Amino acid sequence: MIRNVDLNEISDGKLYEANDMVKLGVEDCEGCYACCCGTGDTLNLDPYDIYRLEAGLGLGFKELLAKHLELRVADGVIMPFLRMDKTLTVTSCGSSVTEKEACTFLNDRGRCSVHDCRPGICRLFPLGRIYEGDGHKYILMENECHKERRVKIKIRKWLETPEFQKYEEYVDAWHHYLAQITDHAKEMTEEELKRKNMALLQSFYLQDYDVSEDFYKQFYERMKF
Ligand code: SF4
Ligand code: SF4
Repeated sequence: MIRNVDLNEISDGKLYEANDMVKLGVEDCEGCYACCCGTGDTLNLDPYDIYRLEAGLGLGFKELLAKHLELRVADGVIMPFLRMDKTLTVTSCGSSVTEKEACTFLNDRGRCSVHDCRPGICRLFPLGRIYEGDGHKYILMENECHKERRVKIKIRKWLETPEFQKYEEYVDAWHHYLAQITDHAKEMTEEELKRKNMALLQSFYLQDYDVSEDFYKQFYERMKF
């Protein structure tokens, strides 16, 4: 999503690249699940997230939508977000807490049940991306995490994403694609924007990916629509 913010207000003020070492490790979150509850409309999913969830869970997009996702409009573009409407009693260290706005993938031990195929935005946290020119840099939103970050990890390792160079290029391509739609949205009629959004939804989300085939090939084919 596009945000105009002062870097110093939301981060440590530094810009990082994928090979930089950053204090990100918190020893498996140690019983904390704060960023998996009540996050409202912040956790949106891109096509690669859907591909990963489809492959990991053996579900199609419509099944994911019925159980775990919801469609929302952000910057004029319709896209899937993680649903935060699960009521869950989490038991940890002998005490129980009831969460009313938990991610549907959070289990009753306060752990992510889709850890291996969790969305990119969950992998990224507490990093964010800043887009500049054709590429992007990373920022550390150090006050967003409830624990003190202790262990330095290279960003590309933290993201646990195969074919990392391809992934980085895809992230930029998707960002610029959405930015173009957002820019043109202001000049479109309501009907034109609705048609564009329906075409985007159909091409990148509703049409299930062939998870036995390479994601990137399918994504760039769909970009031609
Ligand atoms: S707030 Fe920090 S420690 Fe808590 S779940 Fe999120 S990343 Fe882990
Ligand atoms: S997908 Fe997993 S890591 Fe992401 S918000 Fe849901 S439970 Fe948390």
